[in-house]
Amino acid sequence: MGYQVEAKCLHCGTTFTVEHDGGFFSHLVRCDKCGKTKFIGFDELGELHLRYLKGLSGPYCIANAEYDEYVRTHVPLEPISESEYRRGIEDVAGRCACGGKYTLDAPPRCPNCHSTRLKEGRVIRRYD
Ligand SMILES: [Zn+2]
Ligand SMILES: [Zn+2]
Repeated sequence: MGYQVEAKCLHCGTTFTVEHDGGFFSHLVRCDKCGKTKFIGFDELGELHLRYLKGLSGPYCIANAEYDEYVRTHVPLEPISESEYRRGIEDVAGRCACGGKYTLDAPPRCPNCHSTRLKEGRVIRRYD
């Protein structure tokens, strides 16, 4: 589901790699100030993720469909909406060492000058 691409900063010329999207078992969050990324595993979200699954009308992802179905029918939790879920993930992700906040939709940034003016190139690898 996730992938990593080559990127070049149009401001300072630094080349680096950028990750997009989380995997089957994690979400990718990015600092809104420095662009640092980290993965939040569904297991770290605990009940929050289960409540989100509960609120879906179908499985979250096919790889996990049986488990998702089990949660929907057997786990006695209050379902939450997509936006509540996203907020919850960002709460769990917390703050970056730079003082920024990890969010699900912060843009990728150059690790050198923190510019968001990037040119993305070929996909280097894909991950689950
Ligand atoms: Zn740069
Ligand atoms: Zn940061």
